[in-house]
Amino acid sequence: MARKRESSPQNPHDVGRVMREIPERPRGTPLKDQDIREGKVSLIAWKPHLEYRWDSGVAISRFLLGLKEGKILGVRCHSCGRTVTPPRAFCEWCFRPVDEWVELKDTGTVNTFSICYVTWDMKPLEIPQIPAVIEIDGTHPRVGFLHLLGGIGEKDVEAIRRRVRVGMRVQAVWKSPAERVGAITDILYFQPLE
Ligand SMILES: [Zn+2]
Repeated sequence: MARKRESSPQNPHDVGRVMREIPERPRGTPLKDQDIREGKVSLIAWKPHLEYRWDSGVAISRFLLGLKEGKILGVRCHSCGRTVTPPRAFCEWCFRPVDEWVELKDTGTVNTFSICYVTWDMKPLEIPQIPAVIEIDGTHPRVGFLHLLGGIGEKDVEAIRRRVRVGMRVQAVWKSPAERVGAITDILYFQPLE
């Protein structure tokens, strides 16, 4: 059965002018996951063989190799005098290649942070995570990278609120050399120096 829809003469854009009759309910058969699992509908199972490789580039590749050795590397531009990490192949201020690679300390200062009670895909966390931008010692101000803070007694939210602050001095806590693979996660987290 279909019902008639009247168009409004006052409104020339009324969909009723175009689609005068609409069905009572949409046609078709609803399909559930269970129907597919139980083979109630025709289906083809196909497992694609896909391989991906990601090229991290000249500068970040060397940075990641440094992490594997337990070193935080940066680059220096002699034109503007800035030292930055993560390294870039060129200085984005001067638009010229960087001049020098430098080994930095694994200490730094918290530029900003957040206390997260959910994961990136909105699953609740019993122990909150504390992502923070860390400015590594020896680099230009307001240059840093995102990592996690730890070793603060994360189970105790009051302890986090009491201790974590912008300007807090921190040091990297590394995985053991055997566990390091050349990834930013070779640093487990940054813990307070005080
Ligand atoms: Zn520069």
